Amino acid sequence: MDLVFATNNAHKLEEIRRIVGDGIRILSLRDIGCHDDIPETAETLEGNALQKARWVKERYGYDCFADDTGLMVDALDGAPGIYSARYAGPQCDAEANMELLLKRLEGIPDDRRTAAFHTVIALLQGDGTHIFTGSVHGRIAREKHGTNGFGYDPVFVPDETGVPFAEMSAEAKNLISHRSRATRRLIDYLASSSTNNE
Ligand code: IMP
Repeated sequence: MDLVFATNNAHKLEEIRRIVGDGIRILSLRDIGCHDDIPETAETLEGNALQKARWVKERYGYDCFADDTGLMVDALDGAPGIYSARYAGPQCDAEANMELLLKRLEGIPDDRRTAAFHTVIALLQGDGTHIFTGSVHGRIAREKHGTNGFGYDPVFVPDETGVPFAEMSAEAKNLISHRSRATRRLIDYLASSSTNNE
């Protein structure tokens, strides 16, 4: 089965291909010749995921899924949320985003630094639309630690391990991460729907 994952993010493609295994071929946007700057202008993670998946399905005709993730920090009323990728500004990188986050949390005690990553995946398959979600709860550290992963990994400490994502192996992160939880729900669905259609 071929499915387009509406992304060109190499980290995400690698993570998801590792979880999916060999049964399903995951194509990137580049693989299908899509070089569009796909808009993400919705006000929710689900809205953004649907917007990206619909763009590909309607213009390129492939069954497709798209994801959107946000880091919601309780002491910041859910920020950076849907703006996680561009928290410190449209051209800013992960370092700048983390610096701003740590600055906004200056003086906030450990017990109020709670946060969660939430991922929403929208799958458009045939005429159907399906939504899958995954979350991981934790805290924002006071400083950056570790070099693995990407994005906010050096400052996010999941409750399950007490160790920042950036100090965990890719395999250990995949066992508990927001995206892998949502992805497993997607994969379980794909597996059961292909069995039902046999
Ligand atoms: P996206 O919707 O998956 O592109 O995620 C939006 C932003 O959330 C990314 O640009 C990262 O800053 C952050 N993010 C998403 N997933 C992760 C993760 O697994 N670790 C750290 N940061 C993440």
